[in-house]
Amino acid sequence: MRKVSILGATGSIGQNTIDLIKRAPDAYDVVALTGARNIAQLAKDAVDLRAQVAVTADPTLLDDLRAALAGSDVEAAAGPNALEDAAARTVDWVMSAIIGAAGLAPGLKVLEQGAALALANKESMVCAGALVKATAHKHGARVLPVDSEHSAVFQGLIGEDINTVERIIITASGGAFRDWPMEKLATATPAQAATHPNWDMGQRITIDSASMFNKALEVIETREFFEVDPSIIEVLVHPQSMIHALVGFNDGALMAHVGPPDMRHAIGFALHWPERRNLPVERLDLAALSQLTFRDPDEKRWPALRLARDVMAAGGHTGAVFNAAKERALDHFISEHIGFMQMAEVVEEVLTRLSAQSSLTNAEMSLDSVLEMDHLARKTADDIIAKQ
Ligand code: NDP
Repeated sequence: MRKVSILGATGSIGQNTIDLIKRAPDAYDVVALTGARNIAQLAKDAVDLRAQVAVTADPTLLDDLRAALAGSDVEAAAGPNALEDAAARTVDWVMSAIIGAAGLAPGLKVLEQGAALALANKESMVCAGALVKATAHKHGARVLPVDSEHSAVFQGLIGEDINTVERIIITASGGAFRDWPMEKLATATPAQAATHPNWDMGQRITIDSASMFNKALEVIETREFFEVDPSIIEVLVHPQSMIHALVGFNDGALMAHVGPPDMRHAIGFALHWPERRNLPVERLDLAALSQLTFRDPDEKRWPALRLARDVMAAGGHTGAVFNAAKERALDHFISEHIGFMQMAEVVEEVLTRLSAQSSLTNAEMSLDSVLEMDHLARKTADDIIAKQ
């Protein structure tokens, strides 16, 4: 039996992972499940899957978790340290599906024990790609992409020489406001932004899809995962979300990964890698697809894409600043303190203000240095918003 843990088990990716695990209960020995506020779901899955331990990131919810697990053999624990301890328990494979920079420290614990890390938490790569890769290398661990675009590129590169790759194209649905007139975007509400045309995802990533901050993070993640020059990474708006990514080679061939918008494909691929196994996803009827369309993204509508290029050019801790400023701007948009288009303005202003910090690009990267820049960027974003 393979020993597995799921970090962020109560979220959208976590639940899709559990769906796959529950279909083959004899194949997996579940060690740890973690969540934050959804105690009922966490406890239910921990009992159903006979996990060793269930952890909530929120220490104030420990008593609730204990009560929900009463009568079972599952241990209960709470708080960031407990989360890292759970991630450090010996396993073969871990799904990293916590949302935001909070996923970085537990993910590093997984790598330190040499387990395979299926990385949905793109923020880890954006904030600390060099650290994630160095930790994996040091401990002989493997990082597997779970974002659908990166899984698609990963699959497109199997058996290929990375030096023959001329272009990597990741697609974007364009999110909720793809066809809105520009002047209306300033009035967009969090509820409107949290509706995705194709994918069923958590609230935060869905809003990030509308602003293209999600795609901006993915561009940086592409650079970190595949270690290619930023100039060969392209974004293409593809409203149908059927082609997830394309890899272009030096002989002119363009290999596309086509599949329905169902995260269980990318999760299942990472779960079974290096094998392919049967997965419960829809088989596409290509003749029934009326059309697949593509267009270049408009960077006035989606300034996050321009900012991603600046972040890659600056390097170092700039990704951590970008992500943290984005997370705070998103918090303030969700609480309706700032408008939809102001998110990018706040992030750009944080990047400008912190660009003079020598530690931004010079300092050697460690978990502490990343968390320090993350903290500074959040505080700077809050200061900017408070003065507006
Ligand atoms: P959700 O918001 O649905 O779930 C997030 C998970 O993280 C939940 O288990 C939540 O617990 C937990 N959590 C929230 N805050 C904290 C915290 N501070 N510390 C520890 N755990 C916390 O997110 P998604 O599943 O949509 O996304 C997860 C990751 O996967 C993100 O990095 C996202 O970018 C990436 N991703 C998601 C895709 C998708 O289809 N959803 C596609 C590709 C990548 P609780 O719910 O109990 O509060």
